[in-house]
Amino acid sequence: MPLIDPQLKEILVCPCPHHAPLDEDEAASRLRCQKCRLAFVVDDGLPIMLLEEAEAGADFNPQECGAAEEVTAELKATG
Ligand SMILES: [Zn+2]
Repeated sequence: MPLIDPQLKEILVCPCPHHAPLDEDEAASRLRCQKCRLAFVVDDGLPIMLLEEAEAGADFNPQECGAAEEVTAELKATG
C-alpha cells in the first residue's frame, strides 16, 4: 500500500527552492526530496510538507537545497 495517494504524490514537490519531486520511503513513512534529500513525515496519509518540520538525514544535501543558511543550519543541528 502506498504511503500517500498516488495522485497526491504526483502534484507534491519539496518546498526547497528546487521544488523537486519526492521519493516514497515506505519503510520509514517518509517522503524524500530527490534533490536535497530532506525527509517529510507522512502522518496517516498526510505528508507534512514544511521545511521546519523536515528531517535532515545523513545524506541531506544543503547545496542542492539552496534554502536560507539559517534554515539549513537549524536542520543540521537537529539532523
Ligand atoms: Zn528539496
